[in-house]
Amino acid sequence: MVDKVMGSAWEATKALASGFATTFIHLFRKPITEEYPEYKRLLPARTRAVIILTRDPDGGERCVACYLCSAVCPVSCISMQSAEREDGRRYAAWFRINFARCIYCGLCEEACPTSAIQLTPYFETCKRNILDLVYEKEDLLVDHQGKDKEYNFYKYAGVATDVGDKGEHIREDEPVNVKSNLP
Ligand code: SF4
Ligand code: SF4
Repeated sequence: MVDKVMGSAWEATKALASGFATTFIHLFRKPITEEYPEYKRLLPARTRAVIILTRDPDGGERCVACYLCSAVCPVSCISMQSAEREDGRRYAAWFRINFARCIYCGLCEEACPTSAIQLTPYFETCKRNILDLVYEKEDLLVDHQGKDKEYNFYKYAGVATDVGDKGEHIREDEPVNVKSNLP
């Protein structure tokens, strides 16, 4: 019994000494202190933070208000209202992201067929009023293409080519009338 108590005491003393030794070693190490915000660490290009809505290379809004980003968003923080221009092209009449709920997962960017919605590395968006974290379309829309400089959805999707009209290519169905519910 005495041997067992002595053994436990010895183990406890060793653990304590090891802890103190680690602390002692760190007393002589140079501290690593980054003075944020004076010093800002360079973040990887793929860091996911604030979301933007980008434009086509020709300056048009890329978003066609397809609702895919809001459907895929796991926290339902994207909402919008679709509208249609006179030439039939869709756009978002309004587009809203609640950054107080966004978890910056990037799924909206993955789902977007037009490369409109993109996450950027910019993360300094702290606000005192939580409602200031609700961004409207005018806060999100930028005048550049973001990380996808060349892509223009309408140059690739639903266009006739010199080998055939819409629906005439190999394994391509006839275009559907999206304004009709009839089969
Ligand atoms: S990054 Fe994720 S959570 Fe944030 S808006 Fe996009 S899908 Fe939603
Ligand atoms: S941002 Fe992209 S996915 Fe979201 S509605 Fe616009 S086009 Fe669709």
